[in-house]
Amino acid sequence: MSTKEEYLAMLDNAYKQLKDVVRLSGERFHPPEPIIRVEGRQTHIVSFKELVSILNRDPKDLARFLSKEVGSPYTLTSDGSKLIFTTLVKPSLVRSRIEKFINLYVICPICKRPDTKIEKRGRIWVLKCLACGAESPIKKI
Ligand SMILES: [Zn+2]
Repeated sequence: MSTKEEYLAMLDNAYKQLKDVVRLSGERFHPPEPIIRVEGRQTHIVSFKELVSILNRDPKDLARFLSKEVGSPYTLTSDGSKLIFTTLVKPSLVRSRIEKFINLYVICPICKRPDTKIEKRGRIWVLKCLACGAESPIKKI
């Protein structure tokens, strides 16, 4: 016998198991505050490597996005640990643009969870949600 309720319970169960293995699957996504320092006439994201690893995104995508958003050229240190804006940018601006990136390119617009990946299909970019399966078109960075 297979009722709809049983089916839903099974789905729910499968979802819970999935939840245990999916990275950062809290109900709300709280990445740690990025560490941003002004050094002379430059602004450094000191925790850039940690940030991209938590967000699970291509460092170049995040760097390019932030560079455009804050209006400053950038360099990445060779080990990828720091992102350096080569002009002075207010840390509060950088922080707010990191949040914007998370909202646009990390959080699933359907279920609001961060367990997503970016699929680049030629000129079309899609945010694919590993939690609910939604595919949402996103703007190419
Ligand atoms: Zn989703």
